[in-house]
Amino acid sequence: MTNVTVITGGSRGIGAATARRLAHTGQHIAIGYRRDHTAADTVVADLRATGVRAIAVPADTRDPDQVTALFDAAAELGTLTGLVNNAGITSPIGPFTDLDPDDLRRVIDVNLLGYVLCAQQAARRMTDGAAIVNLSSVAATLGSPGEYVHYAAVKAATDALTIGLAKELAPRGIRVNAVAPGIIRTDIHALSGQPDRPDRAASRIPLGRPGEPDEVAAAVTWLLSPDASYTTGAILRVGGGL
Ligand code: NAP
Repeated sequence: MTNVTVITGGSRGIGAATARRLAHTGQHIAIGYRRDHTAADTVVADLRATGVRAIAVPADTRDPDQVTALFDAAAELGTLTGLVNNAGITSPIGPFTDLDPDDLRRVIDVNLLGYVLCAQQAARRMTDGAAIVNLSSVAATLGSPGEYVHYAAVKAATDALTIGLAKELAPRGIRVNAVAPGIIRTDIHALSGQPDRPDRAASRIPLGRPGEPDEVAAAVTWLLSPDASYTTGAILRVGGGL
């Protein structure tokens, strides 16, 4: 089997959980990451232990040349059949009036520009039967008031990207979907200044608890699989009821 999936931000959190799950389906995997070499190497070792081919490529998704290099490296493993557009960031939690323009620019660059650049590489290289999954957020429809409205706005752009690309690529047999997680237990909350956010938010989540990365990975894996062969343009909420 020579099918390859590229997972951006595959060194930690939802991306790493997705890589580990996909490896059990026999997919070869190229993970991209930005700076945490040790975490990326650990994921790659776990993937190879399942018998698949796996590489980690340092690739900042904001940089078109690094994105091209990531996809070129993935091509060495086989035929590109999957992209998980996952590398994403938030910024310090706080009221909209305190938003620093530099933080806004970073959120747009990683979560929108990065997704577009990766989807463009994938769309140029993929053929019939391939699939793209974009990591959106329930924030896109909830708005994240008092936390990060700008991040929510950018995730809404992810949904629009998903819907438009799904229609544009459908005639070529390429499916495009999104998964919109709720509050998932990853490092992203510590990086936004509130490591305890998942536990504090539990009482407002209908299922009464934050999600685990593997619960999101399960949805991503399904959308990439032939079991989802008639699903395109979908935005699948994985938010415990949020
Ligand atoms: P995470 O644990 O913080 O991991 C983020 C990953 O993205 C890391 O592998 C990181 O690599 C990589 N990354 C960050 N900036 C990058 C860049 N410029 N170029 C390439 N890689 C970069 O995040 P997560 O919680 O798993 O989130 C994954 C996705 O799900 C994001 O799109 C996020 O917005 C979305 N999401 C998360 C939640 C949640 O509650 N966790 C909820 C809704 C949506 P390095 O470590 O090397 O920097």
